[in-house]
Amino acid sequence: EVRVRFAPSPTGNLHVGGARTALFNYLFARSKGGKFVLRIEDTDLERSTKESENAVLQDLSWLGIDWDEGPGIGGDYGPYRQSERNDLYKKFAEQLLNSGHVYRCFCSNEELEKMKEIAKLKQLPPVYTGKWATATDDEVQEELAKGTPYTYRFRVPKVGNLKIVDLIRGEVSWGLNTLGDFVIMRSNGQPVYNFCVTVDDATMAISHVIRAEEHLPNTLRQALIYQALGFPMPHFAHVSLILAPDRSKLSKRHGATSVGQYKEMGYLPEAMVNYLALLGWGDGTENEFFTLQKLVEAFTIDRVNKSGAIFDSTKLRWMNGQHLRALPAEDLIKLVGERWKVAGLLTESEGMFIREAVELLKDGIDLVTDADKALSNLLSYPLYSTLSSPEGKPVLEDKLYEVATYLLSSYDNGELTLAFEEGPDGWKKWAKSFGKSQKRKGKSLFMPLRLLLTGKLHGPDMVSSILLLYKAGKNGLIAPQAG
Ligand code: GLU
Repeated sequence: EVRVRFAPSPTGNLHVGGARTALFNYLFARSKGGKFVLRIEDTDLERSTKESENAVLQDLSWLGIDWDEGPGIGGDYGPYRQSERNDLYKKFAEQLLNSGHVYRCFCSNEELEKMKEIAKLKQLPPVYTGKWATATDDEVQEELAKGTPYTYRFRVPKVGNLKIVDLIRGEVSWGLNTLGDFVIMRSNGQPVYNFCVTVDDATMAISHVIRAEEHLPNTLRQALIYQALGFPMPHFAHVSLILAPDRSKLSKRHGATSVGQYKEMGYLPEAMVNYLALLGWGDGTENEFFTLQKLVEAFTIDRVNKSGAIFDSTKLRWMNGQHLRALPAEDLIKLVGERWKVAGLLTESEGMFIREAVELLKDGIDLVTDADKALSNLLSYPLYSTLSSPEGKPVLEDKLYEVATYLLSSYDNGELTLAFEEGPDGWKKWAKSFGKSQKRKGKSLFMPLRLLLTGKLHGPDMVSSILLLYKAGKNGLIAPQAG
């Protein structure tokens, strides 16, 4: 049975890298009909907080990543917080002590420091060279009788290699001669991270460990512990790093890096999930648009790339636009309508006007917050905007006054109002006769009109814009601050 886990340390927010790891685990489990387990790695009591745990769980839920076992829902392999599993760690530490894979080390910090210094001087790896690896039982009993504090140290075989076949990276092997005997339990009885992870993965019957590349050095230690405990080794898959566009490790200085930040900025969970999946994975076709369900259907671990994936926030934004427009019309209208009300642009959050406005403006919107600007542009006349083309050339020659004159007279004699009242057809009629009288058509007809009526050279369909604007004004929909 496939059983995978996501094991966040609740010491901060859910980073996009963590979210991607969670997603790959989730997709793997769902595509294999397996189980996705959530385990909270809160052994670092100083840095772990309940708030962080809650935030991480919430962010996962927001993304649509649900777990089969874990905090809140339980399961057969609980408890699912490391802080609640101390008895288990103790039990297995004792087992390793009895089997000789672990020994008690009574070295003081000073002695350990000295060892490190000597190794450094001799340019040797900082491995444990103290006497406790080979101490006699009498020597041990003597220290125990004195009450000297001790750690549990894992006895690393000194020769040979350890090899795993990583599902993403292929064969990875380590020479054991550079790895010193390492501590698995501190003198205060606190188990060490690598030991907890191994005990947990083994006792939770995890079949595949899919995690970030930076854990690869831990895998060596964990694999040794697996062997010593006599548990079958899970399959490992180490996912590459997420990089910034400059190929350095993605960090806060590159902008938003947590899922919560993107949520706050108005990103859709559907877009986040789709984009995260593409960081190091693709289905091998040109297609980049996936729903979570489609990802489950298409995901295979052998298509996960082993080189670093670049986090491109521009592409994420673009992708959000794709998902926004793919929402069921009713959902999009509701989302944008509420946004406009909250942003203080409109006096109500639903109705015909909003439907039509969303339909008209949606192509220019990637993020729901873009809708504010699009509507403000429609509702107001920013005449300060350029009167020339992007290349700086005046586009309207010297004939703008002619159009303006006609427009004004059309307004004065009521034709324009009539055209508004009649809707699109009335407009078309009016524009046609106007064009005829001015010997204008196409661009030379609509550009000056657009400019005079909206103060802009570009924008959504002009006739619809004006009719909509007319309706909004007539029905008192525009909030006072917006107009
Ligand atoms: N708690 C670790 C982390 O947050 C994950 C360890 C693992 O996946 O093995 O990086």
